[in-house]
Amino acid sequence: MTVRLILAKGREKSLLRRHPWVFSGAVARLEGKASSGETIDVCDSQGKWLARAAYSPQSQIRARVWSWEQDESVDIDFFVRRLQAAQLLRDWLARRDDLDSYRLIAGESDGMPGVTIDRFGNFLVLQLLSAGAEYQRAPLIAALTQCYPDCAIYDRSDVSVRKKEGLELTQGVVCGELPPPLLPITEHGMKLLVDIQGGHKTGYYLDQRDSRLATRRYAKDRRVLNCFSYTGGFAVSALMGGCSEVISVDTSQAALDIARQNVELNGLDLSKAQFLRDDVFKLLRTYRDSGEKFDLIVMDPPKFVENKNQLAGACRGYKDINMLAMQLLNPGGMLLTFSCSGLMATDLFQKIIADAALDARRDVQFIEQFRQAADHPVIASYPEGMYLKGFACRVL
Ligand code: SAH
Repeated sequence: MTVRLILAKGREKSLLRRHPWVFSGAVARLEGKASSGETIDVCDSQGKWLARAAYSPQSQIRARVWSWEQDESVDIDFFVRRLQAAQLLRDWLARRDDLDSYRLIAGESDGMPGVTIDRFGNFLVLQLLSAGAEYQRAPLIAALTQCYPDCAIYDRSDVSVRKKEGLELTQGVVCGELPPPLLPITEHGMKLLVDIQGGHKTGYYLDQRDSRLATRRYAKDRRVLNCFSYTGGFAVSALMGGCSEVISVDTSQAALDIARQNVELNGLDLSKAQFLRDDVFKLLRTYRDSGEKFDLIVMDPPKFVENKNQLAGACRGYKDINMLAMQLLNPGGMLLTFSCSGLMATDLFQKIIADAALDARRDVQFIEQFRQAADHPVIASYPEGMYLKGFACRVL
């Protein structure tokens, strides 16, 4: 019989709303023995069956739900069904000939908690972030090879969140060939080199695809500052949109080297592109003090908030960089600003931008709103899945 995890009295509410996590504080007891990641049944305090989940003894998130159907087992067929459903949502992307890369599995929102799979051309890059995902590695890979016989699979589970789940960091070829050091992918007609083995996350930030496209529309004849550029996706977009100049800033030299190659690869004018290895917080102040001006600034910082305790500090950080960016803009300039912190709600982020405008003594109009691209869906029961938000602001 499957091991049962019994919830404390009254702690079943979030599961009844189909939120896929059980926090340790909601657990009354475990009936039986389960190893890390093993599939268990979650029941309310009366013993009524609620969900089938993966057990994670070391994590604050003690269980993550695989299925809400009592007769559904978690096996190869389960993963095949999940993959097929996910592929169906992305078919319109997969059929386009101006892009070849997309997020195939977005964890909880695709019914596979702790699993991220990005597709870059014919390479599938896998990240297993939870004990349950790791426990299911073999059936998941079997399902992937069945559904994608032509794809190579590469593991990038070298992420520190695994430590919270008691897991080692892993990386390497799972199946098929080793990805080349730099794999060219296509995104809205741009060619971009992706370092699957050594790049950030799975190699590239697919979630910003639509915002990069929007940047093209705002770039014409503008002098652009691309903050936190990584491999220059926004820089290539700005150049394609006809900007007069684009300065990309990042602390990672490896990322900047790829950014430069990306500009070249697209046959764009390298003399209009600069790549600066610097700290954005510092550089913005240097530019302010020296009177440097821009017409378009992209502000795409890394995640500032890992937990609720960091939220207040993160708000100050966001306000600071956005205020500085506004001060660097010529009247009528555009600020494309983003937050990828899941704990930062969209309305709070909007308020921070409004506060930054007050401090910068500039009037700001919200022109357009962004979110993670459509291959990063948000299941309604798990609003935390909506992590990336952004605004195009006109700064008067
Ligand atoms: N805009 C990018 C993604 C940005 S990810 C894209 O479209 O692909 C965040 C980037 O910020 C990373 O490349 C990281 O190296 C860089 N970074 C982190 N802290 C930084 C800092 N203080 N100054 C400059 N870059 C920083």
